[in-house]
Amino acid sequence: SQESGAQGAGADLVLSGLTKRFASFTAVDDLDLTVPQGSFFALLGPSGCGKTTTLRMVAGLEEPTGGTITLGDDDITHLKPYKRPVNTVFQSYALFPHLTIAANVAFGLRRRGRKRVAEDVERMLDLVELTGLADRRPAQLSGGQQQRVALARALINQPRVLLLDEPLGALDLKLRRQMQIELKRIQTEVGLTFVHVTHDQEEAMTMADTVAVMNAGRIEQMGPPEVLYECPATTFVANFLGQSNLVAGRVRDGAGEGDLVLDVHGTTVHADRARAVVAQGDVWVGVRPEKVVLAPAGGAPSEPAGNCLRGGVVSDVSFVGVSTQYLVRMPWGQELTAFSQNSGHHERLRTGAAVDLHWSPAHTFCLDASQDAA
Ligand code: ATP
Repeated sequence: SQESGAQGAGADLVLSGLTKRFASFTAVDDLDLTVPQGSFFALLGPSGCGKTTTLRMVAGLEEPTGGTITLGDDDITHLKPYKRPVNTVFQSYALFPHLTIAANVAFGLRRRGRKRVAEDVERMLDLVELTGLADRRPAQLSGGQQQRVALARALINQPRVLLLDEPLGALDLKLRRQMQIELKRIQTEVGLTFVHVTHDQEEAMTMADTVAVMNAGRIEQMGPPEVLYECPATTFVANFLGQSNLVAGRVRDGAGEGDLVLDVHGTTVHADRARAVVAQGDVWVGVRPEKVVLAPAGGAPSEPAGNCLRGGVVSDVSFVGVSTQYLVRMPWGQELTAFSQNSGHHERLRTGAAVDLHWSPAHTFCLDASQDAA
C-alpha cells in the first residue's frame, strides 16, 4: 500500500538501460539515470526527444521495451500504475469539474478508503497557498490556482516520487515564473523527489538541483545547472542552454598542467584545462556572450593573461532591457555575440564600429569537434 511505501522513503530512483521502441523507432535509447532521493530533478530537451515517454514509463503508463526502473530495493518496472508510490501532475490539470476543490484534493485518499480526510486536505491547501478556497469548483479558479490544486491532489497521496510533465506549460509567462519559485519552495518543504519534464531551459535551470539534458532518446549531459551552463560537454548542450559562441579551433599544446594553448583562426587563445572536454585535435572553442567584453579595436587586453580576438566589426546592436546584444562579424565571416550590461556608464558601440573581443581563459570551454557539429 501507499502507507507501507512511505517507510521506504530515502530511496533513489534508478533507471537502468531503459529503452522504449515504437515499432522500429527508438524513442528512449538505453537510458541510465539515477535520481537521488529528495532532489529536484529536471529532464530537459527539445520536443520529441523522449522526455514524456521516459516519465510515462516511470509512472507505469508505458511498458518499457527493455531495462529496469527501481526505487531503492524495489523493482517497479512492471507494477501497475496505481501500485507505484509515484504520482503525476500533467499540463492539463484534469480536475473533476463537478467536485469542490476539497473533494478533488481528497480524491486519492477517499478512493483508498480513508474516511477522515479533512485535516489532510486543509494541510495540503495551506501548503499550496489555497487556504479558504476549499468549497469552490475548478471553474471558479484561475489557471495557476487550478495547477496548485492538481499539485495538492498528487501530494496528498504521499508519493515517494512526484512526476511533473510540463506542469506549467499552460500558464502565461509571468505566472509561470511565479509558479517555478513556488514549486521549488513546496519541494523543499515536503522533501520529496520531484522529476520535472520541460523543454524550457530557463525553467529547468531555475528550479532543479540536477538537470539531465536529453537529445534523441539519450542523455547528453547531467549535472547541476551551473555546471551544465559553464562547462557544457557537447555542442548540443552548449547551444540548448542559452547562447554560445563556438569557434573552430585546434589544440596546439595540450600537454602539461597549465591552460590549454589553442589556435583560433591564426590567433593563440588559452582555455582552462578543467573545462576542456578534449585536449587535442580539432575543437570548438566556446564562450558565453555575457563573458565577452567588446573594446574599440587595437586596445590592450583588460587582463594580462586574457584572450583577445581582433578584427571584429559590429554588425547589429539590439537593446534587450538589462543588456545590449551585439553581433560582431569576424574576419573569417562568422558572427559572434556579446552581451553587455546596461549600467548606464558605458556608451553603446554603434553598428560598423571596429572592435576586439576580450574574455578570460577561465570562461573558455573546449569541445570535441571530431564528432560534434556546432
Ligand atoms: P514533447 O516535449 O513534444 O512532449 P518529448 O520529449 O516528451 O516531446 P515524447 O513524447 O517522449 O517526446 O516522444 C518521443 C518520440 O516518440 C517522438 O518522436 C514521438 O513522436 C514518439 N512517440 C511517442 N509516443 C508514441 C506512440 N505511442 N507511438 C509512436 N510513437 C510515439
